[in-house]
Amino acid sequence: MLRIPQAYLQKIDWEGIEVAIYKLQDQEKSSKMKIMHDYLPTRCLLSKRNGQNSSLYPNCQKTSENVLHVFQCSHRSATSAYNVAI
Ligand SMILES: [Zn+2]
Repeated sequence: MLRIPQAYLQKIDWEGIEVAIYKLQDQEKSSKMKIMHDYLPTRCLLSKRNGQNSSLYPNCQKTSENVLHVFQCSHRSATSAYNVAI
């Protein structure tokens, strides 16, 4: 489990997050909350849950597919997919 230092938690604008979430539609709230809580069905999570064969991110095959890596991966196929999605 990811442990976040107390000093870092105090820097988060919790009120701003609450206001932003309040403005979202229900389906958007669900996906954003899953991202925030690292609960998207990534290969890393599925691997832990049910022993999926590989947890590697399919675009780069270099590291485990988790929410952070999905947004940070610099592999060309990952960035082109991201640019199409936004
Ligand atoms: Zn990657």
